[in-house]
Amino acid sequence: LVSRKKQAEDTIVTSKGVSVGGGAHLMVAGPCSVESYEQTRAVGAALKAAGVKVMRGGAFKPRTSPYDFQGLGIDGLKILKEVADEFGLVTISEIVNPAHIEIAQQYIDVIQIGARNMQNFELLKAAGEATIPVLLKRGIAATMDEFLLAAEYIVSRGNGQVMLIERGIRTYEKWTRNTLDISAVPILKQESHLPVLVDVSHSTGRKDIMLPCAKAALAAGADGIMIETHPDPATALSDADQQLTLEQFDSFYAQLKASGLFR
Ligand code: PEP
Ligand code: MN
Repeated sequence: LVSRKKQAEDTIVTSKGVSVGGGAHLMVAGPCSVESYEQTRAVGAALKAAGVKVMRGGAFKPRTSPYDFQGLGIDGLKILKEVADEFGLVTISEIVNPAHIEIAQQYIDVIQIGARNMQNFELLKAAGEATIPVLLKRGIAATMDEFLLAAEYIVSRGNGQVMLIERGIRTYEKWTRNTLDISAVPILKQESHLPVLVDVSHSTGRKDIMLPCAKAALAAGADGIMIETHPDPATALSDADQQLTLEQFDSFYAQLKASGLFR
């Protein structure tokens, strides 16, 4: 069902009047984690001012260490809703438990399925029964086949509003956090009609190359970009090293638009 052979025209994913696919580019920005109302509101205000319509923010955080900040859970989703309502934003947040899909829909606009859960098949099936769009991240070591079949799980359960996002894969290279697989973009665009985004934060982990990587993603045909931004990255409870300040985000977004690649 996700194949271009089944459907030639691009799928357009829409939430609260904001669309991606079929030409329009989408910017998704926000903190790695929702940490507090004040922190989330500061990001929401900055995104609104910059003209960004979609805010991300993790409430259920899949952390490598059990001793690291695990996220605010449902309370974090409630904060996202409060800020989204104030600024008229679309929100995206990761859900890790199939049992939370239903309640999450009361608070957020798009369900993110994270790299570590790309093959959590019960979660994929539950997302396929959701009535809101899904942003599916490529697994840490997932092949194109595995990625597309994970999307197929969601679409085959009835939810055709799925976006794919390349977020870097694990290789031997250590100068970047993961290896951004740019070739995945044209391959996914050719093989599937679903919108394709690129996460320049988790793929690179390096602020100094996020702009050229975002340009490369758009030049390769990506429909959108995801990037992490935080009012005070040094104090962030997760991914402190890779989050842009709000000022750095403004500059990143302005330069991306000035390049003519982001339309
Ligand atoms: C995230 O986007 O917050 C995240 C945890 O990313 P990934 O699942 O790609 O590691
Ligand atoms: Mn993160």
